[in-house]
Amino acid sequence: MKQPKKLPWTISSLCDGCASCENACPIEIITMVETEHKGFSIPILKKYEDCIGCGKCANACAMGGIAMTAYISDAIEKCERDRKRFLASDFTPWERSE
Ligand code: SF4
Ligand code: SF4
Repeated sequence: MKQPKKLPWTISSLCDGCASCENACPIEIITMVETEHKGFSIPILKKYEDCIGCGKCANACAMGGIAMTAYISDAIEKCERDRKRFLASDFTPWERSE
């Protein structure tokens, strides 16, 4: 699968945990995870490698809690951090073209 030009960047401080982004993703790679703040959940990309960069998650958010970013490397780093923190991680990254 080809790497998209943009990836979602979640901004948890703006998120109210509504899960609209999770429901809007056509390939179901967003999952809500509970944070240290009991009962409060935020979205993370459980499999960013499959993201097609469609932006539907960002468009679905009324809070501005997801921005699409062209800084792919930074977004991947953030996804990896989130995944390590909240999920078991044994996924294969995209094939790099460079
Ligand atoms: S749609 Fe926005 S406010 Fe709702 S869970 Fe997703 S990021 Fe948070
Ligand atoms: S950009 Fe599209 S494919 Fe990627 S997480 Fe958001 S809704 Fe899903």
